[in-house]
Amino acid sequence: MPELPEVETVKEGIRPAMSGKIIAKAEVNRPDLRWPFPENMADRLTGSRVTALRRRSKYILVDLDSGETLLIHLGMSGRMLVSGQKIGAFHHPHPAPAKHDHVVLHMDDDSRVTFNDARRFGAMDLMPTAAQEDHWLIRDIGPEPLGNSFDEDYLAAKLKGRNTPIKSALLDQRIVAGLGNIYVCEVLYRAGIHPARKAGKISSKRVASLVPLIRQVLTEAIAAGGSSLRDYRQSDGELGYFQHVFQVYDREGAACLTPDCDRKIRRIVQSGRSSFFCPQCQR
Ligand SMILES: [Zn+2]
Repeated sequence: MPELPEVETVKEGIRPAMSGKIIAKAEVNRPDLRWPFPENMADRLTGSRVTALRRRSKYILVDLDSGETLLIHLGMSGRMLVSGQKIGAFHHPHPAPAKHDHVVLHMDDDSRVTFNDARRFGAMDLMPTAAQEDHWLIRDIGPEPLGNSFDEDYLAAKLKGRNTPIKSALLDQRIVAGLGNIYVCEVLYRAGIHPARKAGKISSKRVASLVPLIRQVLTEAIAAGGSSLRDYRQSDGELGYFQHVFQVYDREGAACLTPDCDRKIRRIVQSGRSSFFCPQCQR
């Protein structure tokens, strides 16, 4: 499942194909993905110029000069493909239409952006740009982890008195936007905090340390995604999946990477999801 850095990478990957251009034709090949598409989606997209591409949490937001914003959610298996366009040093020709190409945006310079989703957990919606923060998928989401309103005081206030494990608190989208399982594991390892520790019982000094570590882990992953775009040669033009180097995630039984620690990474299941941690370094 794509997390915030992957979504950021996809957004930057479709930018050259969409930014400032007009959607000459919107091909909508089915009535729905996870939810029905908005009424007359093809007509509402066709003829609109893309004025901005943004990201909020794991949603890509495409602002149009019609006054509407297209929301794109990749879901579990959604993929964006760009063709007729250079990404990095490589030009991607149009592929043959494929199964699960549910929406194809034909831009006025012959670039194409295709949304392909085999499992159909993805979503697309249209909303007035001015009312974007009121959209039902967005209105309850907490601040962006890389934004200014996410800081030590904010996080301390949100975690205060909370009996849930810190892992669950950081995955709670109402507390902070866009953090998923992988990056929370990495953050807690760097912070030396056990994933099962109760959020309200962590010292204020350690809570404060989480904010820069969250920014650091995400920034590093976004940078890795950015360099994957510069060296982008996948023939089908699929965006957003790049090689990660994780310190704890998916490393059960492997040696802890902290110098002088001789323990092995362990895995526990919390709320149905795997948490990876070092029993020595994380308390
Ligand atoms: Zn360790």
